[in-house]
Amino acid sequence: MVFPEKRAAIRHLAKKCMDDNKNKTILVIDDTERNLDMARSILQDYDVIPCTSGADALKVVRDEQIHLILLNTHIPDMDGYTLCRKLKQYPNTQEIPIIFITAETDEKSIEKVYDLGGADYVTQPFKAKELLARVRVQLQVQEMIRELDMMATRDVLTRVLNRKRFFELGEPLFNASGSELYVLMIDIDYLKKINDQYGHDVGDIVLKTVANVIKDVLPPDAIFGRMGGEDFSVMYTAQTHELSMDIVSDILKTVAETQILLKDGSAVSCTISIGIGRKYPEFNSLGSLLQEADITLCQAKESGRNTSIFRDR
Ligand code: GH3
Ligand code: MG
Repeated sequence: MVFPEKRAAIRHLAKKCMDDNKNKTILVIDDTERNLDMARSILQDYDVIPCTSGADALKVVRDEQIHLILLNTHIPDMDGYTLCRKLKQYPNTQEIPIIFITAETDEKSIEKVYDLGGADYVTQPFKAKELLARVRVQLQVQEMIRELDMMATRDVLTRVLNRKRFFELGEPLFNASGSELYVLMIDIDYLKKINDQYGHDVGDIVLKTVANVIKDVLPPDAIFGRMGGEDFSVMYTAQTHELSMDIVSDILKTVAETQILLKDGSAVSCTISIGIGRKYPEFNSLGSLLQEADITLCQAKESGRNTSIFRDR
């Protein structure tokens, strides 16, 4: 049984996803101008990119963010099924829903559409309302999947990775890396005092701001998550030890310099402490490296906070 409040949450999510449909980009791949014109006029509320060949379509999906593909089974350079197979192979395009445009409605052809990973199909000539409804449903489903994925992998307060996702991404990076891999444990200094003095809401704002500031300083491919409470963890690889220490210094400095403006016009600031672990051979699991970063974090706290500690071997 679905409880009423859960049903309401699902309805709310569905409505939100429907509203978000506007401004979505749809790639229409068809070799007949007439079909492209029709699709363009029916889908006038969307950003439509017309395309007449498979090769052009592959270029477009590489350069643009596409939310949905309308794909004719007959295109000149490769048939639609082959193009679909290719799109489903690449990580960047495999999640884009594909609606086939087809004249073949026999059972075998329809089965093939779904077997290849097609989300749906429409028959030619287009029926405007049907095409719009099918497009809307696919965009809504895709948006709901994205939202659910966010909910499952992100920390609700700060929107950085949650602990589970941090490990899911971190374990493979740990296994693939050598001593160029660094792990940081980051803890906000005296957050309890901030909560006590300004209230928990301000403490939440501090947590969110610190997360955003750290994210902006980190290399784009760093893995950054909230491990729980006021603890964050980071994993990244650095070409040299000096470059790694530069990243740590930048984080410390930027957080300490950030003034967080409050509703009443006053400002609050905070500092953080950082424990550093480097993947030396004695650390044979991500857990053991995080433990090292935890130990050095305690040392950073003991040595006065607003600092980082690294133990060389
Ligand atoms: P230290 O410098 O030793 O880390 O001091 P601290 O006060 O930050 O650490 P302590 O472990 O004494 O307290 C942690 C505080 O973090 C208390 C707890 O309420 C607060 N905290 C943990 N999670 C959240 C949160 O989600 N929001 C808010 N506002 N506070 C949180
Ligand atoms: Mg703390």
